[in-house]
Amino acid sequence: MQKKYLMTPGPTPVPADVLLSQARPMIHHRTPEFSGILMKATEDLKYVFQTENDVLIFACSGTGVMESAFVNCFSPGEKVLITRNGKFGDRFLQLAKAYGLEYVDLSYEWNTVVQAADVETALDENPDIKGVFITQSETSSGVLNPVKPVADVVAQKDDCIIIVDSITGIGAVDCPTDEWKLDVVMTGSQKGLMLPPGLAAVSVSEKAWGRVACSELPKFYFSWEKAKKSIGKETTPFTPPVSLIIGLGEALSMIREEGLENVIRRHQLLADAARAGCEAIGLKLFAPPEGRGNAVTPVWVPDGIDGKALVKTMSAKYGITIAGGQDDYAGKIFRIGHLGYFDRFDIITTLAGLEMTLAEIGYEFERGAALRAAEDVFMGA
Ligand SMILES: *Cc1c(COP(=O)(O)O)cnc(C)c1O
Repeated sequence: MQKKYLMTPGPTPVPADVLLSQARPMIHHRTPEFSGILMKATEDLKYVFQTENDVLIFACSGTGVMESAFVNCFSPGEKVLITRNGKFGDRFLQLAKAYGLEYVDLSYEWNTVVQAADVETALDENPDIKGVFITQSETSSGVLNPVKPVADVVAQKDDCIIIVDSITGIGAVDCPTDEWKLDVVMTGSQKGLMLPPGLAAVSVSEKAWGRVACSELPKFYFSWEKAKKSIGKETTPFTPPVSLIIGLGEALSMIREEGLENVIRRHQLLADAARAGCEAIGLKLFAPPEGRGNAVTPVWVPDGIDGKALVKTMSAKYGITIAGGQDDYAGKIFRIGHLGYFDRFDIITTLAGLEMTLAEIGYEFERGAALRAAEDVFMGA
């Protein structure tokens, strides 16, 4: 027998109560019972988004709501600014291209942060930019981008909105939508929301609704206007993922009970412990000190070690699934996820598995040092 540990930044582990809530017999979606569940989940989503704006739920993975931001806010040929320093920022660029938008491409190395000053310069040089895209928590690199200063720059422009991928930000780091004046913010179910994949949510500000009103890109299933009209009638335009929304209600109750601030603090603590553990055995962190998020800890594979073998061995021999590097960093970095339903001993277990795996594949270090460093973080908290 081998127990399995899912230590990836999506999908993430699902708490037993959330799983069980989804196992109940199916109910019909056009019923007062389901409307009640949907409206409660929508209200609780506003709590985690820290917003009074509309929050809309879609049956899709995170990429679906990313796509929805393009088709709902823009018209063919309009200009947008894409900031990117990882795989998910790249996806915004691919979407801009797919929908025939003009774009300014503000691209950075994966282990550096987006600079608000560069956004300001780009907006000065291109006064016709209608939207700025930014990834708050770049899951491919672990980088936490400075959303607030970028939002401050965008807020000064009347006809330009900021669109934030907070898919691994929400529930792990602070993302105060209203306080920071974020026009569009999105998240996905299989990340901080502790649900299976298949559901995503987006918040839409008044300013963003202004863009929606004049957007000419074709849309149907992902129409925000349709979704808003339906939620006004306590329902959804199409058959919603009933079980996932029931699970969402359960997961959001857990988050409410713990308190969003405490949830974020817990993620900070887990991230601190994971980083301290890795550094204590001589490993180098990938994300720069000025921009490290709480969702995932990416680490350079040490010289002479086969990164793919590391991830494979840890999974096959010890049942611990961590994530490898993506694209150019495949085999060069590995990533420990600690997003959502995670507690201290998930980190201890993973560091122990990492030490055993590294020792086995020939890395030299003082065994136990990672555990001691992580324990120190937890005991000091
Ligand atoms: C997971 C993720 C997405 C969406 O990916 P899906 O596979 O479509 O859910 C987008 N952005 C970030 C930062 C992510 O971590």
